[in-house]
Amino acid sequence: MTLRECAAGSDPLSALWRDYLDGRMTQAVLFIGESGVGKRTFARLLAQALLCDSEKDAEKKPCGSCRGCRRFLARTHPDALFPAPLPKEKTIKIDALREMIDSLNRHSLEGGRRVVLIENAERMTPQAQNCLLKTLEDGAEDTYFILTCDAESALLPTIRSRCRIVRVQPWEAGRIEQALVKRGIPADRAKALSVFCEGSLGRALQMQDDASYWQARDTVKRSFLAVRGMGTLPAAAQALKDQKDNGDRLLDILEQEIRALLHAKSLGGDDRSDDFPPAWQEAPAASLCRILEAVLTARRQKYANVGWAALSEGLMQTISEETKTWQV
Ligand SMILES: [Zn+2]
Repeated sequence: MTLRECAAGSDPLSALWRDYLDGRMTQAVLFIGESGVGKRTFARLLAQALLCDSEKDAEKKPCGSCRGCRRFLARTHPDALFPAPLPKEKTIKIDALREMIDSLNRHSLEGGRRVVLIENAERMTPQAQNCLLKTLEDGAEDTYFILTCDAESALLPTIRSRCRIVRVQPWEAGRIEQALVKRGIPADRAKALSVFCEGSLGRALQMQDDASYWQARDTVKRSFLAVRGMGTLPAAAQALKDQKDNGDRLLDILEQEIRALLHAKSLGGDDRSDDFPPAWQEAPAASLCRILEAVLTARRQKYANVGWAALSEGLMQTISEETKTWQV
């Protein structure tokens, strides 16, 4: 995906994209928005575009295949820095920032652009934030700082005031659906994507291009959603065979599907996925909530190393018992 595609439909992102094209990028940009609205996708693409060596015009960047892009994606680009929490830690500590500053100093004579990408910047400790602030104030030439943040209030006001703030808002499902149809995506897919992209057109487009996503959706439809009474269990179990490595994704999709169905029910509208057999569409909310609980239990079991066959069968048993109570 290019920056242009990712910015589509969002005024603040489009404005930033135009400034990038005109060479008017501010040195520090802070993306603020709820989790899942697409700010991280855009921030990563922007960082990659700044380091893309392709001869193509800026409008087509990042190209994804030049040396700069490949090294950025592999996280081996010497001029791309990603201060982040250490493994098993939740906060970004001052050491990570000091390491970044050392690295910036080391490369300062090499020329060329450098990009510092700090995702979940609110995770920086106050000491780390102060350290970053100092660097922002010094403003090294040709160095870009790109930050993303879910919780604005956790960032020092002095950091916020040093950055161009780009607020990324989630889109309504209907607007995303229209935008997708306009791009030639078939209506049924556009509808499904609009429900599951969590308000991010960029994510919807990514999902559209990801064949493995559609295969996983189909597997969920043929397994968990096809369960209706004991007789249907063997076929459903068969669909889940050899899906162990895909288990997290299948559970994610099932959870998203059920949440979207519950949401649609609460609104009384028809913003729902067509993946569900008719009986599910009429299922009582309390029963769907119990299934949702079972999905969460299955996920916990997966983390606790319970085998995929055992946990998926357990989940299908629960679904089977719930479907029995539906008066449809
Ligand atoms: Zn490139």
